[in-house]
Amino acid sequence: MAEEASFMRAPAPAPKRTIYTEAMEIFNRAADLINLDSRVRLELEEPDYEHIFYVTAKLRDRLVPVSPEKASEFSDLPATQVRNPEGLERLMDGRIILNGKALLGSDVSIRNGHLRLSDGNIYELVPGGSERFKAYRVQHNQARGPYKGGTRYHLNVSLDLFKALAAEMTWKTAIAEVPFGGGKGGLQIDPRQYGKEELEAITLRYMYKLKNMIGPDLDIPAPDVGTNGAIMALMYRQYSDGERERHNMRGVVTGKDVRIGGSEGRVKATGQGVIFCVEDYYAAHGDTIKGKSFIIQGFGNVGSNAALILHKLGAKLLAVNDADGTIYNPEGLDVPALVEHTRAPDNLKRSVLGFSGGQVISKSDFWRVPADVCLPAALGGEITADVAESLQVKVVAEGANGPTTPEADRVLQERGITLIPDIIANAGGVTVSYYEWIQNKRMERWTEEAVDRRLELALKRNYRTILDISRGEGRRTEMHDSRPFVIGKPVDTRCAAMILALKRIEAHYMLEGFSQ
Ligand code: NAD
Repeated sequence: MAEEASFMRAPAPAPKRTIYTEAMEIFNRAADLINLDSRVRLELEEPDYEHIFYVTAKLRDRLVPVSPEKASEFSDLPATQVRNPEGLERLMDGRIILNGKALLGSDVSIRNGHLRLSDGNIYELVPGGSERFKAYRVQHNQARGPYKGGTRYHLNVSLDLFKALAAEMTWKTAIAEVPFGGGKGGLQIDPRQYGKEELEAITLRYMYKLKNMIGPDLDIPAPDVGTNGAIMALMYRQYSDGERERHNMRGVVTGKDVRIGGSEGRVKATGQGVIFCVEDYYAAHGDTIKGKSFIIQGFGNVGSNAALILHKLGAKLLAVNDADGTIYNPEGLDVPALVEHTRAPDNLKRSVLGFSGGQVISKSDFWRVPADVCLPAALGGEITADVAESLQVKVVAEGANGPTTPEADRVLQERGITLIPDIIANAGGVTVSYYEWIQNKRMERWTEEAVDRRLELALKRNYRTILDISRGEGRRTEMHDSRPFVIGKPVDTRCAAMILALKRIEAHYMLEGFSQ
């Protein structure tokens, strides 16, 4: 009995720290500070729905390059003259997809499943089989409107990660004041290992399974890492094909090409939004972005568009780090030329490496480059406490989602480095997604200037509100009114942003009540 009692008193094991629990630390801190209603807190602590499912697809035959030792066994094999070279689709890792009847009518010399192409290399012909992919859609909260959030195609995804990203969308849509909730999803896949037609089949199948969980007024996916407007077009087609009122369904996904109902300014919107926030930060200090220096991690949609905009504003980009390496030029990189380099058709990795206008440096040296602003625009968790210690910048503007760990946050604060948190800094994407959704609903088309003007006002108004909450002083100006949100004492900016989100979400629950 005594033994049992002591067992009962044993302390509960500390909950495992995961990406989600780490992401929710700031939620808990802000919820404590504003004394968030306990039931609202329970509603927000876990997602409404967590969908996990699987999609299967049939793959094409592939030609896989072999090692030099293996190739030497076929030194006498003559080259195959391919009659239909358009049918060969080269992938980044050297593999080649055989589309359609790529080899039909060709004079094929094949031995033990190996053949030589006119590039002189020996390839193994691997027949296409079927493959299964794990798929997700997490719907975190819809108190303020339909679930909204990106679709990620990446190998390193999990339910835990999508929960964190979906929750972040709930906060972000509240901060950006767009009438949406939060969601996120995607596939566990490295899209660079598949041909265009294979990715089409996989995406159509993903949407086929997703169809009964989403909709233009229910849950609206958008592009994220590894997806783009072309993937959104496929998702839209699969969702709406054969439906009687398919044109009313255009808003089921955002981030579409402008020619099929996308919004002007959406492609650059996230990068544009980060730069609007940085501009406003300098404006608050009576300064401008002109002449300021930047380092950027990640040169995809967000990083490259932010770079083009800051270049136009007269700022200098000193270094870029991406998944494949880092380039650096103390005089400033030629941004338009670098963007052209990464988007060149033969740069299959879309990497900054190989750019002639800069020198290669290591990733650890990248973080040490002295600059005014560091703009992380790659994946989460990249700015660790060690990285935060080595940064030689004055401002970190988070283009990526969750790039700074909680430990690194503390280091940045101790070192007096200003943080513009992701939930406002990269909210430009979802804000213009909202504009796209309205345009789809109204069958309208806005100009890029109109979109940019609205976006600038929306982001700056909310960023100023966050800065006031952070200072602990409410204000009413022509542009914004932060008085209902301040808590009477200063807090860090990430916490201030979360306070703004929670107060806006809480109002919905408190004013609308709970259905039983
Ligand atoms: P993208 O796929 O277009 O580009 C990603 C970039 O990150 C590439 O340059 C890649 O090389 C680089 N990268 C990947 N792994 C890396 C690593 N380990 N180290 C260094 N660099 C690495 O993606 P994107 O759409 O530009 O998104 C970037 C970030 O911004 C993500 O965190 C995403 O969630 C966030 N975000 C994107 C949008 C949007 O509208 N696209 C909106 C809000 C937030």
